[in-house]
Amino acid sequence: MKEEKDVVPNTQDSSNTRRGSDGQPGPPDKPPGKPKDFPGNPNPSGPPKDHPGRPKKPPGNPDRPGRPKDPPGRGDPPPRRIKPEPTFGQPSPVWWLEDPERWEYECRQMKKHYPGWQPKGCHPGEESPKETVAPVWVGSITPLAPPSDAFGVISALAEDRYVEIHIGGRIDVDPEDLPEKMLELPIDEEELRKTFYLLARHEGPPSHPKVFMTLPQLPRLCPHVFPDGSLCPLLPSGGAWSWVENSLADYLDHIAIWLVKFSVWDATRKATGQGIWIGSEAPHDPASLAATPLNAQCYCGSGLRFGQCHGRITDVTGRLIKWL
Ligand SMILES: [Zn+2]
Repeated sequence: MKEEKDVVPNTQDSSNTRRGSDGQPGPPDKPPGKPKDFPGNPNPSGPPKDHPGRPKKPPGNPDRPGRPKDPPGRGDPPPRRIKPEPTFGQPSPVWWLEDPERWEYECRQMKKHYPGWQPKGCHPGEESPKETVAPVWVGSITPLAPPSDAFGVISALAEDRYVEIHIGGRIDVDPEDLPEKMLELPIDEEELRKTFYLLARHEGPPSHPKVFMTLPQLPRLCPHVFPDGSLCPLLPSGGAWSWVENSLADYLDHIAIWLVKFSVWDATRKATGQGIWIGSEAPHDPASLAATPLNAQCYCGSGLRFGQCHGRITDVTGRLIKWL
């Protein structure tokens, strides 16, 4: 349904590396200590010509012993020059202030595809000290609300087939990619038509959004959840979502699919004691995660390349020697 997808304004460099306005790194390093040249000094080299060899005295207190030799501040160490480094895994919480064009685009996409959702935790257009937090969107998704073909959708997802995402995250079968056979599971249809209340923390670039389920409470040992409790709808290294190419609304589409799979898992778990997770599952074992291509997005959802994030400790041949 989103074939007429808007183009994401690419105003944010995905590497999140901020440089000067000319795009060049800073001036070459100078040795620490006093610079050789003072602006306006006609005699830049050597000691000052008046009073050669005269010991320096603090100005203003020439004859008062016991005073500090330097006026306040004179004794501070010289300032140290430092070159900003690319931030590592710490997206800016105020990206939406720094990049208003992107923020407006995100709001338009949410209004169009998830109109029931509201931004909380940030105050667009207001001068407020609260403007130091990432935007948080609050809303709900009923992925199999009528008139969706609930059993058709779960059968299609079990076969990894395309589905259609309608406004608000309602999912229906794709008429051009119907499931071959209908799943027969001991699930009451009402179980599948539940509403989920969610909170989406819209992290700054290049991180993936963090989506948490607020109601119902997520069961313990629920599969496909990040360690912080946020839902894990896709393997980041697969590239299905990236900050540069996608919006929060796009991410919520994947969350809607996750919610259907969760509904099936939860219902089969309650009916049989053994939850069934439909559709393909990406492997989670350390060896598989460590085999993430260095240029693919890291599995942690930071949006950084694996080689810049959890996979960046390699030996000279580029072989992974330590996995964090
Ligand atoms: Zn990582």
